Amino acid sequence: MARGMVIIGAGECGGRSALTLRDLGYDGPVTLVGDEPHLPYERPPLSKDAMVSDAPEIKAIASDEMLTEKSIRHIHSVQAVAIDRVAHTVRLSDGALLPYDKLLLATGSAPRKLPMPGLGERCVYLRTFADALAIRAHLGVGSRIAVIGGGFIGLELAASARKLGAAVTVIEAQPRILMRGVPVEIAEIIHQAHVAEGVDIVCGQGIASIADDGKEVRIGLAGGREISADLAVIGIGAVPVTGLAAEAGLAIDNGISVDAELRSSDPDIFAAGDCCSFPLTVYGGRRVRLEAWRNAQEQGALAARNMLGAGEAHAAVPWFWSDQYSLSLQIAGLSDEGKSSVRRDLGDGAFILFHLAEDGRLVAASGIGPGNAVARDIRLAEMLIGKRARPTREALGSPDIKLKSLLAA
Ligand code: FAD
Ligand code: NAP
Repeated sequence: MARGMVIIGAGECGGRSALTLRDLGYDGPVTLVGDEPHLPYERPPLSKDAMVSDAPEIKAIASDEMLTEKSIRHIHSVQAVAIDRVAHTVRLSDGALLPYDKLLLATGSAPRKLPMPGLGERCVYLRTFADALAIRAHLGVGSRIAVIGGGFIGLELAASARKLGAAVTVIEAQPRILMRGVPVEIAEIIHQAHVAEGVDIVCGQGIASIADDGKEVRIGLAGGREISADLAVIGIGAVPVTGLAAEAGLAIDNGISVDAELRSSDPDIFAAGDCCSFPLTVYGGRRVRLEAWRNAQEQGALAARNMLGAGEAHAAVPWFWSDQYSLSLQIAGLSDEGKSSVRRDLGDGAFILFHLAEDGRLVAASGIGPGNAVARDIRLAEMLIGKRARPTREALGSPDIKLKSLLAA
């Protein structure tokens, strides 16, 4: 009898993977293990819609009924604590042993902790629905929120907090916000949007001290300024969750190291989503780890196909978005692969920067604008990147020349 498929981590990636196994007709046992008490759910709303809602709810990837109908066993509130690779079993924190034919690790990433003394209960991180509820309870007219880190979590949270009337200060150690991965021209527009909405952004200053007495947090900056807040939300990056894999002796390299088929150093164990690093075909096999919603979805589905023996290599172009106020940022590809860029204006203040490699190949595109203004062209750019196209700078920069025509060429 089949031991079946076991998936550790009931998040975006794990949830999608379980559903895909069934969609592909696999009829052996499928078990999804998660340490959170909820159904698999989407994280992007946690800093956006759910954060500004009067009654935040999880946006589930699959309902209980759907999991039952598809015979997916979802074990929640329990952690996988050890893998016996020889016996092909996973031990859970409640003592249960799960046998597997193939195992998928979709353990995600966790907030990077601020390594400073003085942090207390008013210094928090945002990763889970429980974190979001705890933060939401502090947001309102008159509340003071300090955001440590001018990355995506920090800025999206700042926008939501302003919508609810809180006073917000963002502290970023680097000279500008979104230093990594977002071009300066686009970061500047986002910065100005926050300033226009009343956010105080302090860049280029480290934190010298934190004092949290349980009622208030006082943050001393290197330049001498002190910021007092009712809550400090820390968003200084995420680290892959690799402890279980490392204990089992799997190769780790900025995440669980997998090949293009998402197979780890053990042929019966796969890893996907935020927790893994993999060779990105579109950039000649450069090893990367992506922390993005669509990647988690795509890799969850790809892992399922390969657990069933498809032998399919990862071929997608990275893509992610961020919504702040009425602005939406979208980036396809990895902009650090570019050596120069060309701008295309789309009207209404929306524009796209196309990033080109030295040999003229289009390697990334970063766009910003109101609502969905850049979505269509970023999608086309993504296809051009996937095709390794070398459009001329003139064509990319001219809004009169349709990107679709470049694709056809
Ligand atoms: P996760 O969603 O982190 O799921 C992993 C799960 O595994 C977790 O529930 C974890 O608790 C569980 N787990 C870990 N170890 C064990 C164990 N040993 N046993 C049992 N369970 C375990 N991306 C975008 O592209 N656009 C956005 O706008 C965007 N917004 C975001 C907003 C927020 C607030 C956050 C936190 C993330 C956002 N992301 C966004 C990133 C995106 O949500 C992640 O890339 C995605 O959730 C990764 O999916 P995953 O399944 O790999 O990991
Ligand atoms: P992030 O985007 O990597 O941003 C972290 C920011 O904090 C960086 O600008 C970083 O600067 C800065 N920082 C680091 N140490 C600091 C310090 N000691 N003091 C002040 N600033 C410091 O990560 P994140 O915003 O924390 O997001 C966490 C996770 O959620 C990621 O997986 C992210 O992808 C995901 N997320 C994604 C989205 C989205 O894609 N729209 C939205 C929300 C969350 P350095 O560059 O110097 O490190």
